Amino acid sequence: MPVPLFDTKIQNHALAADLQAAFARVLASGMFILGPEVQNFERQCAEYLGVRHALGISSGTDAILLALMALDIGPDDEVICPSFTFFATAGCVARTGAKPVFCDVRADTFNLDVADAARRITPRTKAILPVHLYGQAAEMESVNALARQHGIKVIEDAAQAVGATQGGKRIGGLGDFGAFSFFPTKNLGAFGDAGLLTTNDDSLAERATLLRNHGAHPKYFHRFVGGNFRLDAVQAALLAVKLPHLDGYAQLRAANAARYTEHFAKLPGLGTQLILPAAQPGNGHIWNQYTLRLPGAGQRDALRTWLTARQIGSEIYYPVPLHAQECFAAVAQTDTDLPVSAQLAGEAVSLPIFPELTRAQQDEVIAAVSEFVVAGR
Ligand SMILES: *Cc1c(COP(=O)(O)O)cnc(C)c1O
Repeated sequence: MPVPLFDTKIQNHALAADLQAAFARVLASGMFILGPEVQNFERQCAEYLGVRHALGISSGTDAILLALMALDIGPDDEVICPSFTFFATAGCVARTGAKPVFCDVRADTFNLDVADAARRITPRTKAILPVHLYGQAAEMESVNALARQHGIKVIEDAAQAVGATQGGKRIGGLGDFGAFSFFPTKNLGAFGDAGLLTTNDDSLAERATLLRNHGAHPKYFHRFVGGNFRLDAVQAALLAVKLPHLDGYAQLRAANAARYTEHFAKLPGLGTQLILPAAQPGNGHIWNQYTLRLPGAGQRDALRTWLTARQIGSEIYYPVPLHAQECFAAVAQTDTDLPVSAQLAGEAVSLPIFPELTRAQQDEVIAAVSEFVVAGR
């Protein structure tokens, strides 16, 4: 039985009647950009996340860029972010003209290593951009303490972690800004590109609201140079149908993760040949990804080949750390400087974890991984 890495259809088809009603409402309204549908979704998100302001944004990438622009980050500034993350985290920094300064990550959480970030702070550092990778929060108390100590801003890249908590609080309101993505494979998946920017700061919210729409206020009078970072009404209306189901999806993902861990924990070579992901105490993990580590030259790639031969979907998030990307050659950071990021890029592989994964499908994945590990020793 083939097992896809992800399936966007089952979840959305189950909500087809409500989604069609929402679409019909937008169709009838003739209002397609921002407007009441977006405002309604923003209110729902603010309440769900426990933040003062939530702005509907065109994508997660645009939410990060907008946060940086609202903080007036640009040429001559430095922003610290992990090297082991999706490209957009650092790509947005570079697009403002600021320099991305890569810090290393922790091998146990895949999230930024705060002590390593601290070593990279200079007088030019304006902000730090922790990523809540795979759905688990970075260590926000330490990040915030570091930021306070140096008077720098904190932008949470929460693209993979909508609904995740730390110390009982939802992420997205723990820094100056939180940036979320509703890319179709994220835990709250839209029907195209969509995102959200959150903040508890009234003046930052006002600035971001202007910048989202070319910095205009009133219309055609431009106080700042902004962009078009607006959310479509249709995405907002459809996402508003899905948001009430989000915690239910997260529970199903967590159950899938627990079941993988229960089975894989019995395998030989655990902790050496095979390392399992785990939620840290105090973290409400939403399991956007379930990511194994296979140390040992070629082992990860061999497992992928093994899974592909059995028609089981898997993915490598991410095969090249950002410091080693061609476009960042000028920042000249090396594998020796960022050893854990370099190591994880060679060891990480993510398995199917989506909420609608059936027990039979998961059994196939468990059997295939188990056979690989047992045969490989
Ligand atoms: C998905 C993602 C983004 C970008 O979000 P888009 O909505 O695809 O633009 C940014 N950062 C991380 C860590 C992501 O996973």
